[in-house]
Amino acid sequence: MSTFAPTEVSPQQLARIAELGPLYAQSVNPASSWIDSLDTGEYERALERVAQQPDETLSLYVHIPFCPGRCLYCACNTTVTHDTAWIDRYLEGLDREMALVSERLRGQHDVLQLHLAGGTPNYLNDAQLTRLTEIVERRFRIIPDTDLSIECDPRRTSAGQLDLLHALGYRRVTFGVQELDPLVQRAIGRVQSTELVSDVYAMARETGFEAIGVDLIYGLPEQTEKSFQATLDAVVDLAPDRVACFGYTRTTAQGTHQYAIDAHRLPSAAERQALFHRAVNTLTAAGYAWIGLDSFALDTDELAMAQEEGRLRRNCIGYTSIATDHMLGFGSGAIGDVGGLCMQNEAEIDTWLSRVQAGQLAAARGHQVQDRDRRRRDAIEHMICNLELPAELAAGCLDDEYARLASYAPDGLVQIESDRLRITPSGRYFLRTLCSEHGAYFEWDRSRWHFSRSL
Ligand code: SF4
Repeated sequence: MSTFAPTEVSPQQLARIAELGPLYAQSVNPASSWIDSLDTGEYERALERVAQQPDETLSLYVHIPFCPGRCLYCACNTTVTHDTAWIDRYLEGLDREMALVSERLRGQHDVLQLHLAGGTPNYLNDAQLTRLTEIVERRFRIIPDTDLSIECDPRRTSAGQLDLLHALGYRRVTFGVQELDPLVQRAIGRVQSTELVSDVYAMARETGFEAIGVDLIYGLPEQTEKSFQATLDAVVDLAPDRVACFGYTRTTAQGTHQYAIDAHRLPSAAERQALFHRAVNTLTAAGYAWIGLDSFALDTDELAMAQEEGRLRRNCIGYTSIATDHMLGFGSGAIGDVGGLCMQNEAEIDTWLSRVQAGQLAAARGHQVQDRDRRRRDAIEHMICNLELPAELAAGCLDDEYARLASYAPDGLVQIESDRLRITPSGRYFLRTLCSEHGAYFEWDRSRWHFSRSL
């Protein structure tokens, strides 16, 4: 791998960034503040608070924890199975869980977003995908404008399946591409040819999906700037509406299968930086706007427009232009943000299933968001989405952090204005460090991520 000379961030700046450490590690509640044995009464009360506000809106996150095989880098809550009857029982459980929640909400709220993730949602067969969508429609108020989206594995996608999804109302699809180099694909146990990805992409376009996304990963074993550049060039040729570029960090605690990745074949920290810079440079040169920490969108895409207009939001589904008041999570290990409670369901499938079949809510962990926490979260989200920290957002909750952040102005990482700190183009590369993923609010959406998003 060649030595990378960053154009936007100098080696001195990188060293300073390393010194900085996670700015918010102490200020955002640590994961230890989550209650591991959440009293379901907490979730009941959170749902009741939502029920009392019928004009508030919902996002639904549905977790499908099944895959036909395990990718070696995967840190996701998923299970390898070929037992379709088990998946059918899981769908019955989702129906039961959605009934339990919608009864408590008294069926009054509009749903603005439905997102299917996993696992591999498109591992479900056609009958199961239809059934799942019908369950959601029966239990919740899906309106004509509801944004329906799904994550798909190109290896499990067919023209017929895309037609079905489109007919069911899905308008956004994201494909897991990761890296197209065959050597890297063998090293991560996920082989999918460029031709396959191109064909599936063309089918999705032909089917009429309004937004097509592609997920990439940098920091994989055997990955080089050359291999990743070829992947980026191929992706640019496809011209997806959105590209997400996540960083892999080997986390064997998330699954022993990751031991099959040889740590010695992983890029160094400097090489990871170089790979990410390749993504930034290639995608922005191709007309993509850099969104938040690690995503990119064509300027015709709603995300780019939302960022430009200052209305970009970030929730556990990812970046969005659709602001909703609550996120409901369904399925094993699903996460939610409901009535001031960050919650996570039982992660073990059969335990989750027995609870919902017994008529119990399945929330197992949670964190009650206090007003001060909410202000911190809003400030951090604002930094990620709008690349600035207004003084009034920081006042009283992030005063120390504001001062520390301002101290990086001489390094060219932030610009001090009278009423705010603005992240500079160079400073954007350390935005992730500022918004520590060790905080509770960054943990709850990490539970569904396939890998660590650290640079
Ligand atoms: S990376 Fe995605 S497809 Fe691969 S095992 Fe994990 S959840 Fe399944």
